[in-house]
Amino acid sequence: MYDLCLVVPAYNEQENLPVLLDELTEVLKSAGVRFQVLFVDDGSRDSTPEVIRNLVSRHQNVRGLLLTRNFGHQAAVSIGLSHARGKAVAVMDADLQDRPEDLLQLYRRYLAGTDVVYAVRTSRPENILKRFAYAAFYRILARMANISIPVDSGDFCVMSQEFVTRLNHLPERLRYLRGLRAWLGGRQVPVAVERGARRAGRPQYTFAKLVRLAIDGLVSFSYVPLRLASLLGITVSGLALVGIIVVLAWKYLGLLPSGAGLATIALSVLLIGGVQVFTLGILGEYVGRIFDEVKGRPVAVVGEVLGNDTEP
Ligand code: UDP
Ligand code: MG
Repeated sequence: MYDLCLVVPAYNEQENLPVLLDELTEVLKSAGVRFQVLFVDDGSRDSTPEVIRNLVSRHQNVRGLLLTRNFGHQAAVSIGLSHARGKAVAVMDADLQDRPEDLLQLYRRYLAGTDVVYAVRTSRPENILKRFAYAAFYRILARMANISIPVDSGDFCVMSQEFVTRLNHLPERLRYLRGLRAWLGGRQVPVAVERGARRAGRPQYTFAKLVRLAIDGLVSFSYVPLRLASLLGITVSGLALVGIIVVLAWKYLGLLPSGAGLATIALSVLLIGGVQVFTLGILGEYVGRIFDEVKGRPVAVVGEVLGNDTEP
């Protein structure tokens, strides 16, 4: 068995994969780490599948999974993890934002004895708006989640094979991996790394995908949105009660302004309507996810497996 198996999800990363493999080989070979790379093509529309096919045919230590369509980053990593074979397993991005030198650092820390070593980003190359959004989200999630999810940690990590087996046994379809990883517990150690810039191509995480990931994270690890809905309902009812008392008092004291009724009614109908739709929306986020889980479909579908997992 290899010392380390790297799971690398790739969506439209044709230029990056050969470079990543070269850099990994350079760093890990000289450190004497016997490693294997498992590329997971997440239904790319460029020639990523051909590039993977080519790399598999030229390198003994490269394997590939070709998914039948784009299932999304978290799904691609999950499927990769269920096919990963190695004494340790790592997850890293294909675009070299997770740097091979840092991987070696994580791996060395792992060897010093622990179940999981995860990277915590000390800096990001993204623009200030995106950085702020990330920082805000991680802090909100850390506050709301019913387990402690480390702030600023992504999916970049090294895990023991046993830990990965436990992870693979978790039944849920909705895989917010950094949350599930934290949920599993055990010995987990953070290591600070800088996040590099994407080497080639454009980020595949669009703003919409990031928002969806954020909502997935919140909904699968927190009941706080549901409680907020109840709280909002109680607050609005309370305000309405106060309003009724005030209006009644006005009426009996003869202070009621003429024509006050119509605007008040229209506004309160709008307010109640808005609150109801908003809370229904929150409920819907949970119900939709229950529906997804109940259907029990696989997380992603593998169309083709390339290469074999035994060390020559
Ligand atoms: N990715 C994927 N499927 C997707 C989107 C992204 O497998 O639908 C991969 C992508 O190829 C990369 C990693 O997930 O290896 C992170 O994506 P990206 O660099 O776009 O995200 P960012 O670094 O901006 O968070
Ligand atoms: Mg990236």
